[in-house]
Amino acid sequence: MLIGCHVSISGSIDMAIDNAVKRKCSAFQIFTRNPRGWHAKELMDQDIKNFKEKLKSSKIDRFSTCAHMPYLPNLSSPKKDGFEKSVNSLIEEVERCGKLGIPYLVTHLGSHLGTGEEAGIKRLVKGLTKAAKVKNDVMILLENTAGQKNSVGSKFAQLGEIFNELKPSKRFGVCFDTCHAFVSGYDLRTEKNVKETFKEFDKHVGMEHLKILHLNDAKGEIGCNLDRHYHIGLGNIGEEGMAAVVKLIMKKNIPIVLETPIDDTRDDFENVRIAKGLV
Ligand code: MN
Ligand code: MN
Ligand code: ZN
Repeated sequence: MLIGCHVSISGSIDMAIDNAVKRKCSAFQIFTRNPRGWHAKELMDQDIKNFKEKLKSSKIDRFSTCAHMPYLPNLSSPKKDGFEKSVNSLIEEVERCGKLGIPYLVTHLGSHLGTGEEAGIKRLVKGLTKAAKVKNDVMILLENTAGQKNSVGSKFAQLGEIFNELKPSKRFGVCFDTCHAFVSGYDLRTEKNVKETFKEFDKHVGMEHLKILHLNDAKGEIGCNLDRHYHIGLGNIGEEGMAAVVKLIMKKNIPIVLETPIDDTRDDFENVRIAKGLV
């Protein structure tokens, strides 16, 4: 079972592995830099060395690790300046992942800001294609979104359409977020629902392209488009649904990463432990 959570790199980037090990993770996700700004401090050779060595001495396989893009980039942006900055940021992250030996980079598909899906997707495909020219073997994973206003890629059919336009195809994969799928209208509350939802995903996108699963319960109701993650089993997806997802994904040996909140109800140590206990 490959399972863990998003961990902090606070202090130095190799601290991610200490944080993952402490939480008994066999998979994890990081931001390679502060996710709230545009600027990324360059990775020093020593940082890279420390990260790689620590990862090697942990029992975590590097193919069970991923990085997530920072928050500000919008790859579907109609603003010339914003779009260029976003693509440059994606290129930079692909390069950083390559240096760290992280095989997967998760990205959101962005917002067309009212200019229409078609135009947004056109820009998105252009940006992703450019980033895939970076000379390393990092795979960019498209994450299904919660379906907020003007967002791109919440429906599997559209996600599949976008995915199929991307070349070279070996540079792209998909990250499935359970909270986002649920609030976009895909039911995950029972084992039967979970099977149907993943069948639908398989039909449009293809299970073989699924490289990382984000396991998050949802604070909002089905179809509400609210991107609010919740503790495993305590949200509107609930325990039965979460367990069914874990079982299905485990069988395929796909790494599971939690992005659950840390609050008075629970912390990430506990959510990881509870997620493992679902099966
Ligand atoms: Mn995300
Ligand atoms: Mn996610
Ligand atoms: Zn989210």
